[in-house]
Amino acid sequence: MNEEQNSKVSLAVTLKTAKYLIRFGAKHDKRLFYMYIVKFIGNVLGEFKTLLLPKLLMDELGLILDGAPVSEHLRTIIIYVALTIIGELLSGILTNIADSHINVLREKFANLLAEEISLKSMTMDFQHTEDPDALDKQNKAKEGVDWYSQGVVGITNCLFEIVYNILATIASIVIIAIYCPLLLPVQALTMGMVCFFNIKKANVDTKFFLMLAKSNRIFSYVYYELADFRYGKEIRLYNATDMMAGRADKYATIQNDLWKEEAAEEVKFMYGSCVANAIRDGASYFYMGYRTLKGFITVGDFSICVAAASRLYRGLLYTGQNFTQLLQRCNYAHKFLEFMDYPDALDKGETKVKETDHVIEFKDVSFKYPRTDEYVLSHINITIKPGEHLSIVGLNGAGKTTFVKLLCRLYDVTEGEILIDGINIKDYSEEEYRKLFAVVFQDFKLFAFSLKDNIKLGDESEGSDEKVEEVLKLSGLYEDAVKLDKGLDTILFKSFDEHGTELSGGQQQKAAISRALYKNAPVVILDEPTAALDPIAEYDIYSKFDTLVGGKSAIYISHRLSSCKFCDKIAVFADKTIKEYGTHDELLRYKDGIYANMFMTQAQYYVENA
Ligand code: ADP
Repeated sequence: MNEEQNSKVSLAVTLKTAKYLIRFGAKHDKRLFYMYIVKFIGNVLGEFKTLLLPKLLMDELGLILDGAPVSEHLRTIIIYVALTIIGELLSGILTNIADSHINVLREKFANLLAEEISLKSMTMDFQHTEDPDALDKQNKAKEGVDWYSQGVVGITNCLFEIVYNILATIASIVIIAIYCPLLLPVQALTMGMVCFFNIKKANVDTKFFLMLAKSNRIFSYVYYELADFRYGKEIRLYNATDMMAGRADKYATIQNDLWKEEAAEEVKFMYGSCVANAIRDGASYFYMGYRTLKGFITVGDFSICVAAASRLYRGLLYTGQNFTQLLQRCNYAHKFLEFMDYPDALDKGETKVKETDHVIEFKDVSFKYPRTDEYVLSHINITIKPGEHLSIVGLNGAGKTTFVKLLCRLYDVTEGEILIDGINIKDYSEEEYRKLFAVVFQDFKLFAFSLKDNIKLGDESEGSDEKVEEVLKLSGLYEDAVKLDKGLDTILFKSFDEHGTELSGGQQQKAAISRALYKNAPVVILDEPTAALDPIAEYDIYSKFDTLVGGKSAIYISHRLSSCKFCDKIAVFADKTIKEYGTHDELLRYKDGIYANMFMTQAQYYVENA
């Protein structure tokens, strides 16, 4: 479906989305619907006060003006006035109570929906997180279900207003049919025109909502994410403020231009509505005035007719407006449903992982990233035996990290197969399979929670605190960690806590290694595990390798070839494949080999520096 078709509001989408959100509301908090019942009663009392009571009062006053004795009608007049006051009071109290509760619930539902988006984002296939289409859909889902549609309350409110205004419209029609029947076709015709213009305007709104999504995303990245203090060093030291401000200006201009374009497209429909309204008012007053002067209706009848005509107009207008708003809001909120239904990229198997030592095999594996044409890995064949420590080396962009992503099944191979214990990894249950690996990626992320929570990630089993201390000692972070303000309970970063700490790059890397060790998975993968460590810490980590990973299988990606000596096998990635494979000593024997050359260059560097 292209953007143009996409921008047309659809009834099927509206029904599906409305049903989903109403159910969502009913599942999480039924008070919302009770509050709408309270609001309904409050509104009906208000109508009674503005529609009926003035007519009754005027008719009584008319009788007095026509010569009837005041004493006979005074009591009735006082009752009507009292009813008017009570009606006003009760109506105000009830609608206010309902509105204030509904506003609180609006926030509650917004948070619940945002939580659903976060959960989906955290559980969807990883490859989507690197896919612009999924990112775009996620952004539209967030905006669509939040302030564009106002979520559960926005949709419920539209439905309530539609039902309520239809009832008010029917009541007004009955009143008008009794006193001024010809007013009905005039109202119907002009309202038809207003509705037509409103639908046209709604289509323009939706079209621009979709067009604005991309620039909104970039704009909010530049303004909000880059304002994050974590980017502070780069922005200051590389003097990037002007560049950032320039980018923000550029997208602000794009947004402004789009808004201007939107306003220009919409204005003609707004003028159309104004003309239709003017025609309706003129014709109505002329007709009602004529009937009153001719004595066909009383002044009280004229008054209820004016009120009913006004209510009919508002009833139809609000029904139409709320209906178009419902279509529009559901169309926005449907982006949420689309994101929640974002299809899996990978087939999910059910096979359980065996409780044995694991053999990993890559059989003629080739891979290109989705939506790209170029292979980044080609004909990879390698076996990693249980307990083996494999080092992967190669220049930047050689495909080392991609190899790890394939092994962790963050992506599926394009050709060939990866087997664990002789079974294609696609056949394993995803949850079980993920338990096999403890990975520290090059671009690992720590969360703005306490150091301890970053390592345990929710595990509160007995002895978990002791285990955290153990892994921190192994990675060499323990001594630094206990010196922090609140020890292991110190919050990382300043996002949530102004007293949060900013660990150094090396300390962060040790924290990430501790987290991997804590997981105690059978295969440990460290992508550039020591890049941010100083030479002493690096030596420390390597000399403790065996203790760190024990008898587990391990894969290390490293640029520091000295680390390869600690490994059983080395795979040299170049030209999209494994060019050299063997032990450190074996590879050094190929004098013109890639590894030998790389090793000698680095060794020379260390010698010279020494
Ligand atoms: P290495 O870890 O050896 O530095 P990578 O595995 O990160 O190399 O990258 C290998 C190649 O794949 C590079 O050309 C890189 O640009 C490309 N690449 C990495 N990630 C993606 C992605 N998500 N989409 C498209 N291409 C990618």
